[in-house]
Amino acid sequence: MEKRPLKEGFPMKAFEIRSPGDYGVTEAPEPVIGEEEVLVQVAYAAICHSDIDMLTGARRHLIRYPNIGGHEFAGTVVRAGHRVKGFRPGDRVACECIIRCGQCTGCDLGWNDCENYSELGFMQGGGFAEYCAVPARNCHRIADHVSFEQAALTEPLGNGFAVAEAAGIGPRDCVAVIGPGPIGLYAMQCAKLWHPHQLIMIGTREERLKYAAGTADVLINIREQDAAKAVMAATGGEGVQVVLMCATTVSACELALQIAGGGCRVIVEGLPGETPVPVCFNDFVVRSPTIKGVAGVTAKQFRQVITLMENGVLDPAGLVTHRFPLTRITEGFEILQARNQDAVKILVDPSAQDA
Ligand SMILES: [Zn+2]
Ligand SMILES: [Zn+2]
Repeated sequence: MEKRPLKEGFPMKAFEIRSPGDYGVTEAPEPVIGEEEVLVQVAYAAICHSDIDMLTGARRHLIRYPNIGGHEFAGTVVRAGHRVKGFRPGDRVACECIIRCGQCTGCDLGWNDCENYSELGFMQGGGFAEYCAVPARNCHRIADHVSFEQAALTEPLGNGFAVAEAAGIGPRDCVAVIGPGPIGLYAMQCAKLWHPHQLIMIGTREERLKYAAGTADVLINIREQDAAKAVMAATGGEGVQVVLMCATTVSACELALQIAGGGCRVIVEGLPGETPVPVCFNDFVVRSPTIKGVAGVTAKQFRQVITLMENGVLDPAGLVTHRFPLTRITEGFEILQARNQDAVKILVDPSAQDA
C-alpha cells in the first residue's frame, strides 16, 4: 500500500464511534496537541476485541462517546508540544494507551488503578485516525529494525507479558493458558521466557489453537475432549501450577479451578464480564490456589516488551492475518465478529489509499 505524503492541517480521516451501533469513517479535525503532548502520524493501528465491545456497547466502563477508537498503535512524531522534551519530528514510537496521572495512590503503587484514569481510543481520541494526540510520556521510541506492524502490537503483547509475569513462573511449573485469542497466544509466548516445565494451551477453535502449536507442549480442544481430564493426564494427575485465564466465559473460569493443582496461581486477564462464578471454598483450603487479576500493562512492562522485540526475543507480528486501509476498517470488525477467515490480529493503515 502506498503511503501518502504528510498532510498538514484539517481535516483528517478517522473512525468515529458516536454511540453503540452508530460508527463510521469520517472527516475529523486534526487533533490540537497540548503542551506536553505530541502529534503522532499513525502508521498502523490494530483491532482488538475490546474495540468491538465499544462498537456494540458491551463495554460499559471507562468509555466515552463519541470518540475516535483505536488503542493499539504506532507511528511517527510529526509535532511536539512546547514543554515536550526528548521527542522530535521523525521519531518512530509505540503508543501506550493507558494515561495515568502519576500523582495518585494507585499510580504510586504502580497499578493501572489511577484516580484520573484515561485511555486513548476509549475515553479520548485514539489511533484509528491519520493523526493522534498522545501524551509524550505515553510514547516509547522504537529501534529502526522494529517494524511499525510489530510496534502497533506492543499493547496486546504487553498484556500477555503482564499475565505471564504475574504468575511468577518457575522451571518446575506446568502452565496452562485458557483461551487462544491474541492475548492468550501472546501470554503463551511470554510464559516461555521463564522456561516452565510444560506449556498447555486450551481452547475451542482449531484455527486459533494452531498458532500455539510451535510453543505449547500440549494442545487441548475443549470441543473434542474433556479438558480437565486431558490436563490431569498430561500432568500425571497433579494439575497445573499456573493457569493464565485469557478467556472470558464462566465455563473457562470453572475449568481454571478444576485443573488447578496445589498452590496454583490463577491469573485472570482483562474484564471477564459481570456473571458471578461459583467457587468451592473447600478446594481453597485443600489446594490453596491464588486468584489474581491483571488489569492491563504497566508503563514498565510496555518498555520491557519493546526491549524484547528489539532483541528479537518476541515478535507479535506473527499473529497478523489481515491488513486494511482505515477506510475499510468496518470489514475488519465484521471478520472478527463473524469469527471467519481465521482472523487473529487485523491491522489498519490510515494512510493507505482505498484498494
Ligand atoms: Zn486491546
Ligand atoms: Zn493516578
